[in-house]
Amino acid sequence: LPNTPAPANKTRVLMAGGTGFIGEFVARASVDAGFDTFLLIRPCPTTTYKQALIKEFQEKGATLIHGVINDKELMEKILKEHEIEIVISLVGGRDLLDQLILVEAMKSIKTIKRYIPSEFGHDVDRATPVEPGLRMYKQKRTVRRAVEECGIPYTYICSNSIASWPYYDNSHPAQLPPPLDHMHIYGDGSVKAYFVDGNDIGRLAIKAASDIRTLNKIVHFRPQSNYYSMNELASLWENKIGRTIPRVTISEDLLLALAAENIEPDSVVASLTHDIFIKGCHNYNSDDPKEVDIGTLFPEETFRSLEDCFEDFAQLVREKKTNDYDDGDHINGNLKGTKNDDGVK
Ligand code: NDP
Repeated sequence: LPNTPAPANKTRVLMAGGTGFIGEFVARASVDAGFDTFLLIRPCPTTTYKQALIKEFQEKGATLIHGVINDKELMEKILKEHEIEIVISLVGGRDLLDQLILVEAMKSIKTIKRYIPSEFGHDVDRATPVEPGLRMYKQKRTVRRAVEECGIPYTYICSNSIASWPYYDNSHPAQLPPPLDHMHIYGDGSVKAYFVDGNDIGRLAIKAASDIRTLNKIVHFRPQSNYYSMNELASLWENKIGRTIPRVTISEDLLLALAAENIEPDSVVASLTHDIFIKGCHNYNSDDPKEVDIGTLFPEETFRSLEDCFEDFAQLVREKKTNDYDDGDHINGNLKGTKNDDGVK
């Protein structure tokens, strides 16, 4: 039953950003795992979508706390009062450095068993995208160094790309089906990347957060079964909808020009797209003992296939339900054209 609270789990987790794009998956996984979950929510007006999420999580047993992570006194009070053991931050790209105050608070109370900073993407010490993506990576690196210098136990989650069609011109993928009019192929379309369903990101991040084997480690999500190039993604989508779609090449030069425009969020997304699909930042060997692969850690866990994720998108298109996503919570105007198309078998 969706609203039945999970059996109580003593682990006390404070989650900042649990109503954000990635945060929703992680917060849901935390309450579903039965963790004693405390949701830190900014005390400002919120959307109806986020209100519904908060209600869902509260019904599953989460405790709502209003506050911000960049208020040291408040954070110390909350961490002490609720005897928080694990802190998970899912603040967005604009607020990454707010975590430095949270780190100070965790340092002063000394009882935090694990901190999961807001990462949930690439290994920022390894990948070096062009600006302005690099600026965000430098901020994530700054947070890593602060955590390490303070001796706070940590786990860095590198979940790579969320399962979806990777647009270069929007901030949040995964909320709309792949395109129906034309498909952008980056470069020659042959560079491969790893894709992970949002629910798998949440579930496995929560498992990793309380596992001793991930203490002070970088955890990579690289399911071989979901390792696709743009050309393969395009074919997968065409198979799902039963027709071909014109492919438009977006050259490396165009991606770099978009990145150089320095417009938020499009230029950040262009620089990361360049890093993934031109430079191939998902492709590396990791034999450093500080790194672990989530699939090796939890061999019993399966990843939802990209094929199934795309089947969901195809189903949405068949049902012409894409308008339901157009609530302004997750997407920007660049993607809305997809909802006018059909032509699906
Ligand atoms: P969002 O902007 O969607 O959500 C951020 C959340 O953090 C919001 O709930 C926001 O609150 C909250 N927040 C922001 N500042 C504070 C603060 N000072 N105190 C408390 N709460 C705060 O973020 P994303 O989900 O886009 O990003 C989260 C992480 O995931 C980032 O590190 C990002 O780089 C990564 N990411 C990875 C993707 C992938 O494909 N792998 C895709 C997208 C993001 P409010 O609701 O009030 O705004």
